[in-house]
Amino acid sequence: MIGCDCEVCTSPDKKDKRLRSSIMVESAKTRLVVDTGPDFRYQMLREKIKHLDAIIFTHPHKDHLAGLDDVRAFNFLMRKPMEVYADSLTGEALRRDFYYAFTDTKYPGTPEINMNTITMEPFVVGDIPITPILVWHLKMPVLSFRFGKFTYITDANRIEDSEKEKIKGSDTIVLNALRKKKHIAHFNLEEAIVLAQELKIPTAYLTHISHQLGRHEEVEKELPDGIHLSYDGLKLSFERY
Ligand SMILES: [Zn+2]
Ligand SMILES: [Zn+2]
Repeated sequence: MIGCDCEVCTSPDKKDKRLRSSIMVESAKTRLVVDTGPDFRYQMLREKIKHLDAIIFTHPHKDHLAGLDDVRAFNFLMRKPMEVYADSLTGEALRRDFYYAFTDTKYPGTPEINMNTITMEPFVVGDIPITPILVWHLKMPVLSFRFGKFTYITDANRIEDSEKEKIKGSDTIVLNALRKKKHIAHFNLEEAIVLAQELKIPTAYLTHISHQLGRHEEVEKELPDGIHLSYDGLKLSFERY
């Protein structure tokens, strides 16, 4: 947090250096990113990514969209537009926030984007099958995604029972937990733990963690078996089907 001297913000532990939430999902053939927050460029540099097939969006908040302009590097490297997947609400925000990428007459170097609209139907990117799951971020609908035995949920504070059914059977879930204190639009730590246990997912990693949650090392010790804090750079493997 800018200007903060708390124990997390001043911690020397790398696991306490939290950039904006995003994941990369890859198979042998396909690589995609879920959300391009303001840290997208740095995250791509850090992981030395030279090839990216698609970007999938969860919801239109700026901390999940703002980095999209930097797809220009991939347009240049791969000599084609970036395939972007978003629901209509997020698509509208992208067209507004990055209006210059959607005009008929473009100057050279403008991001090149090919928009694909996500409905609630399963879809496939390259060879990666994806099931969208609707969750609620206070009053905003947000998309979560299930990739085989792995489910990624960010920016949620409520999930309807019918959508919970789509998550069940996952081996691993990544779930947002902002802090210990209750929050109006995000699960807090306790709510995230209760949900992971209710869904009987063997392994859960918490994400979208604010500095108010506390230091990684200390919080990790308090968590029940099978539940962990995620951290920047964490890598997980899962079955695709
Ligand atoms: Zn802080
Ligand atoms: Zn949000």
